Amino acid sequence: MPFSTLGLAAPLIAAVTDSGYQTPTPIQIKAIPAVLSGRDLLAAAQTGTGKTAGFTLPILQRLSQKVIERNRPVRALILTPTRELAAQVGESVVKYGQHLAPRLKSEVVFGGVKINPQMMRLRGGVDILTATPGRLLDLVSQNAVKLNNVEILVLDEADRMLDMGFSKDLHKILALLPKKRQNLLFSATFSAEIRKLTEGLLVNPVTVEVAAENAAADTVEQIVYTVNKTAKTALLTHLVKSNDWQQVLVFTSTKHGANRLTEKLNTAQIKAAAIHGNKSQGARTSALAGFKAGEIRVLVATDVAARGIDIAQLPHVVNFELPRSSSDYVHRIGRTGRAGLNGQAVSLVSEDEYSALKLVEKLLGSKIPRQQISGF
Ligand code: AMP
Repeated sequence: MPFSTLGLAAPLIAAVTDSGYQTPTPIQIKAIPAVLSGRDLLAAAQTGTGKTAGFTLPILQRLSQKVIERNRPVRALILTPTRELAAQVGESVVKYGQHLAPRLKSEVVFGGVKINPQMMRLRGGVDILTATPGRLLDLVSQNAVKLNNVEILVLDEADRMLDMGFSKDLHKILALLPKKRQNLLFSATFSAEIRKLTEGLLVNPVTVEVAAENAAADTVEQIVYTVNKTAKTALLTHLVKSNDWQQVLVFTSTKHGANRLTEKLNTAQIKAAAIHGNKSQGARTSALAGFKAGEIRVLVATDVAARGIDIAQLPHVVNFELPRSSSDYVHRIGRTGRAGLNGQAVSLVSEDEYSALKLVEKLLGSKIPRQQISGF
């Protein structure tokens, strides 16, 4: 099925062609016509499914049908849990909107950086605002932005937003929006809390599911290695070398842990680099480029830093530690086995993590096969 059958206008099709996309992904096939028709949307989809284009393209089209030149009130609000995701979504908005005339204005705001430049950038008004919840509320309280003209609201990675404690902020933001609006919600997992949120938010939504609810893609082979905590580095080294893994994304729970592991892998003659919040943007970009080019064999990342990573066909993902939240597990392993290719997700689990493992398995609804390698 070509993009041209989804009802998108020529400038948007041109942007899709520029991006090199041949055909829409399953989520795009369902989401684009639904959003264009003005319906609410509930989508079970994780990173790598093409969800960003799935909501960005139809939003651009709807807003461009009636451009409000005066004051430029925010008409589409996209909320994301992290700054990496906000930045990535913001880039998509610019990329897909580049051929529209007149153009729509967009901005991205997130916490952790100075607020003043963001206030300046919002001054002339913007049509599409991508934001993390806390910083958005700060900007509202300083009168830098008003939300009473929002026509379309997107909650991207809604499960992560709740996991990160944004529930209160979200409800404060919802209270500032006009009652009548279009709502789009994306989430990789559907806990009771997410269900409650969607019930209060969405009116007769079109639902789209690209993977089984709460289930990891079938193309991902999952293995748990039970191991002594102190033997994890040695086991990882052994697995990479004996299986000749060439491109491995390893998750650690702390920045410090990521640095330490990276050093040890390099000492063991496995070329590794770390990316996390304490690294400069330049260091992150070059680590990622090296990884993509095959010069770096192991990329060690924290969950937050990994959000912004987009690598096709990642063959191996390793949980050096299990994540604190089970939905992070699903997000992490969603980075392998993409687009029908087989991937392997390996978790190194020590005794103190058995209860976390149980929670992951409860969310998955199945047990992950255990293995042990003698000597570890
Ligand atoms: P997302 O799930 O939105 O993070 O998108 C994952 C990646 O898929 C991004 O690098 C997109 O540029 C890419 N992508 C989105 N739509 C398509 C498509 N129809 N065909 C090929 N790649 C796509």
